[in-house]
Amino acid sequence: MLDYILVGAGLSGIAVAEKLIDSGKNIRVFENHSQSSSTVAGGIYNPVILKRFTLAWEADEQLKTAIPFYRSLEKKLKTSLISEMPVYRKFHSVEEQNNWFAAMDKPSVAAFLSPNLISQINPNIPSDFSFGMVKNTGVINTELLLDAYRKYLKELDVFITEDFQYDMLQLKNDQFNYKGFQSKRIIFCDGFGMARNPFFNKLPLNGNKGEYLIIKSEALKLEVAVKSSIFILPLGKDLYKIGATYNNKDKTPEPTEDAREYLLEKLRTLITCDFEVVGQVAGIRPATADRKPLVGEHSEYKGMFCCNGFGSRGVLIGPTVARKLIDFIENGTPIPSDINIRRYAKKC
Ligand SMILES: Cc1cc2nc3c(=O)[nH]c(=O)nc-3n(C[C@H](O)[C@H](O)[C@H](O)COP(=O)(O)OP(=O)(O)OC[C@H]3O[C@@H](n4cnc5c(N)ncnc54)[C@H](O)[C@@H]3O)c2cc1C
Repeated sequence: MLDYILVGAGLSGIAVAEKLIDSGKNIRVFENHSQSSSTVAGGIYNPVILKRFTLAWEADEQLKTAIPFYRSLEKKLKTSLISEMPVYRKFHSVEEQNNWFAAMDKPSVAAFLSPNLISQINPNIPSDFSFGMVKNTGVINTELLLDAYRKYLKELDVFITEDFQYDMLQLKNDQFNYKGFQSKRIIFCDGFGMARNPFFNKLPLNGNKGEYLIIKSEALKLEVAVKSSIFILPLGKDLYKIGATYNNKDKTPEPTEDAREYLLEKLRTLITCDFEVVGQVAGIRPATADRKPLVGEHSEYKGMFCCNGFGSRGVLIGPTVARKLIDFIENGTPIPSDINIRRYAKKC
């Protein structure tokens, strides 16, 4: 008898799995490699919304859980995952500069914004209106994290590379039966794969496709992240991620020509040096209408849960939300109403 079946080993699935393994639970994790959001993510953790200079939802609190979580995984997996890296926001007008300083009136935001404007950060990235620096930001190498964590799950013999077939799941005598496995509980961490999940697919999960270009530029020599209309994210060895795009309509997993052209056009106005495109990746963000996660227990099937809806901020949200879900299941601590799927009472 298992304690938990997990479906999905993206940022949500590994945060949930880690919490359960830590408390000695007997789990199995199904992963079918159908979704790539967590693998292709930029991995940026940045509490500030760089359009409006406001704090993202509970981001300062999430940061306090996320960084120790990824640090502990670095030790466990013996892999370097975190690169602390400032984000430089390019200003396009005096008004934007003023908004930056006005935002600093709020102490919660001021903690992350540098009061000094920087006129030049790199000769290949000119700005007529300088840059502002966001502090306490960085990047998690999510591709490496997922590779290493899935390998760790395989070593524990709890990882099953297989499509979880929702219609094969049976509930009998308060336990779930799935292809010979019996489990007290099941948690779906299936990201945009939830669209195929008959138990939760009425929840308002609107996938949002994101794409990055990978470029190589020997001349750029940039070691910080830069945000203008798009991000430039250094990967090392003269490689950079450029993006990302946001597309609510296209739900196909493949990279597109449209996104490539859009990103190239933006990039050419941002940097002045030569580069070549060496790759392009795409994934579907599990985005929600109210931009809050979807967490909680199915109203009809007791013991069945979902942990989803991390949108464009899975790196920061994942560890906090996974902890809240497990605290609810194991200790009865209520899930906050703003993330609880009960807010969509009629949908599951
Ligand atoms: C281009 C792009 C850039 C991004 N940049 C950032 C960033 O810089 N910072 C940040 O915080 N966030 C970023 N995000 C968002 C972040 O990637 C998501 O919030 C996060 O990945 C969601 O994680 P998840 O585990 O819920 O979903 P997913 O990553 O989609 O994971 C779900 C997993 O479940 C598996 N699965 C689904 N159905 C089944 C099934 N039936 N059987 C078995 N397995 C199944 C899938 O294969 C997948 O591995 C970005 C996203 C994109 C697309």
